[in-house]
Amino acid sequence: MKKLQLSALVYLILFLMNISPGKAAGLAKISYTVSFPEAQAHYVDVEMNITGLAQPSLDVKMPVWAPGSYLVREFAKNIEGFSVSANGKQVSAPKINKNTWHINTAGLSSVTVKYKVYAFELSVRTSFIDVSHAFLSTTGIFLFPKGMLNQPSTITIKPYKDWNKVSTSLEMVKGDVFTRTAPNYDILYDSPLEIGTQDVFDFDVANTHYEVAMYGGGNYDKERLKVDMAKIIEAETAVYGENPNKHYTFIVHNKARNGGGLEHLSSTVLGASRDGYTNERTYHGFLSLVAHEHFHLWNVKRLRPIALGPFDYDNENYTTNLWIAEGFTAYYQNIILRYADLSTTETFLGDMAGDINTVENQPGTKVQALSESSFDAWIKSYRPNENSYNTGISYYDKGAVIGLLLDLEIINSTNGKSSLNDVMKYMYNTYYKGLKRGYTDAEFKAGFEKFAGKKLNDFYAKYINGLDAIDYDKYLNYAGYKLVDELAASNEPTLGVFTNQRNIITTVVRDGAGWVNGLNVGDQITAIDDTPVTDLNAVIKGKKVGDKIVVTVSRDAQAFKIPVTLKRNDNVKYTVTEIPNATPQQLAVRKKWLKL
Ligand SMILES: [Zn+2]
Repeated sequence: MKKLQLSALVYLILFLMNISPGKAAGLAKISYTVSFPEAQAHYVDVEMNITGLAQPSLDVKMPVWAPGSYLVREFAKNIEGFSVSANGKQVSAPKINKNTWHINTAGLSSVTVKYKVYAFELSVRTSFIDVSHAFLSTTGIFLFPKGMLNQPSTITIKPYKDWNKVSTSLEMVKGDVFTRTAPNYDILYDSPLEIGTQDVFDFDVANTHYEVAMYGGGNYDKERLKVDMAKIIEAETAVYGENPNKHYTFIVHNKARNGGGLEHLSSTVLGASRDGYTNERTYHGFLSLVAHEHFHLWNVKRLRPIALGPFDYDNENYTTNLWIAEGFTAYYQNIILRYADLSTTETFLGDMAGDINTVENQPGTKVQALSESSFDAWIKSYRPNENSYNTGISYYDKGAVIGLLLDLEIINSTNGKSSLNDVMKYMYNTYYKGLKRGYTDAEFKAGFEKFAGKKLNDFYAKYINGLDAIDYDKYLNYAGYKLVDELAASNEPTLGVFTNQRNIITTVVRDGAGWVNGLNVGDQITAIDDTPVTDLNAVIKGKKVGDKIVVTVSRDAQAFKIPVTLKRNDNVKYTVTEIPNATPQQLAVRKKWLKL
């Protein structure tokens, strides 16, 4: 976090300008009041008071993105009715770019800024208001005065009707739940607020007080959740050796169908399916999400790529390391459940095989390197199009696979003395706690090498920065496992396209039959060999590899007959399978890896 430091030169300039440091820009007091007179229409009214001003002008700005979600979202687009007043009079405050207003503060010591924000997008990184609750994702709600990101602020909440709870990691002022304070903007922007009548339960674990705020109802069993979430938290705390929070808040948005999450420093927001808690598969998915987002409180919120903090709220923040920040977190979301005995070995290996299959079946894995996938998250992963499957690879899926390989490499090369956990703990202690800054790409690589006891230049060249096929069996063999492809002997034909329920093509798979023969995204397949088609998959399954068929498509309201030669479906379906007669060395690696 950047601290305000006045150098001798700054003092001299202030002296020459006849401004005392106490009155300099940056020492103003900032407070907000939020109210919901039109909650039913999805608005929050914001009043921002800034006092202690001593400068001729002040710019106020809205962030363009929410940290953790790597897309410029232009939150200023939801602002309306912007006005500034002082001493009961309007103050000139023209807008000077997409997210900045320039306030003329000459002769004024305080100003009041008023605006409304429209909020009707319930996702983990956007805000939503209706009569049942308000979820305020702070980067899209609170303007900040330029140059004052280190300033504290207070927020007074005037709740709508019966709203009686506020769930957030922001500290209360004088024990008032409706008055909160943030020591600086990095913390304000990392602390969403859930306001309403949510169901709240709490528990203590790892020297930290945990609060879970459930919005939207659901068939969850609070007592079971307390036990299972505590196991996850303990297993994750053990990786790093400490839990840096005194309190932590889970905000859960339960809807008919929902998922995804966003990490924060001392809280997280999760999406869950209201009735998914009693089904073992969807409950496993929810616990994985808890493990993922909570693991982030270390990995990315504290142990972070150097580009990700202090944040630039005006622009993209580029890093090649999201495969560590997100991919490793995706690896840990699975292995932590194994550590905590919330997954069996079979379930864990199944989860990992799922990641491997996703990576191997996506043509983009041969096009985009992992480091590139991270760097271009802003324009590619977060802005996918119909061809993304062919051109990119997810730093979540491939990053999780790389986590798996490096964990096994380190365990094997140290004869079970160390694992990836030791690298994570060492990097956390060295960069977050010790140097108090983010890590560079080279520094994390050096961290791996320190524990692996060998250089990883070749590994990085092939798998991080290159496009080489991954030698999974080399690493799995360390623990007495190998991949078995259940589809190896299959000779199933495929059209090489993805379609929706109306047989409209949504993706044409690179080098597949559809790609080679000229099927297009948007084509609606109406007939095969002049026979009208409804169940397209059944029709294709009834054919053979090499069969020549005629596909009739409706394209731009015209019919086209396209000859297509069916190709073999080259997708893999790997399982991670035990090698018979594993050696004591392999069994020892397995034991360490899976904490058996
Ligand atoms: Zn994540």
